[in-house]
Amino acid sequence: MSDSCLFCKIIAGQIPSKKVYEDDRLFAFDDINPQAPMHVLVVPKTHVATLNDLAKAHDDLVGAMVRTAAQIAKQRGHDGPGYRTVFNCNAQAGQTVFHIHLHVLGGRVMTWPPG
Ligand code: 5GP
Ligand code: ZN
Repeated sequence: MSDSCLFCKIIAGQIPSKKVYEDDRLFAFDDINPQAPMHVLVVPKTHVATLNDLAKAHDDLVGAMVRTAAQIAKQRGHDGPGYRTVFNCNAQAGQTVFHIHLHVLGGRVMTWPPG
């Protein structure tokens, strides 16, 4: 846990959130500023600042993040119509919270390329 990290505080329950899923390694919650009818963030309980900080030892953890995102989308009926998953890495991509998180967005038509 990083004392200065917003998502570490959410995982620890020090900042309230709307929990969607939790297990021993992962926490998922609704984004406070949703960009689609479903906008969930899937985060690892361990603090990793950016994708650039991932090591091979994280491979299973990141796989679990992606699979959990797919499960959440399926539970909400977005698996058939489709949904989008996004990792932003560093400033130019729009990362504002430096604890890796997988955005899971669904419930509307998405355009490409992203902004
Ligand atoms: P990023 O821009 O780093 O890829 O995504 C950070 C996300 O965290 C944003 O979509 C933002 O709305 C969300 N966020 C920021 N602060 C909070 C908060 O206090 N609670 C929740 N639930 N989401 C937050
Ligand atoms: Zn953190």
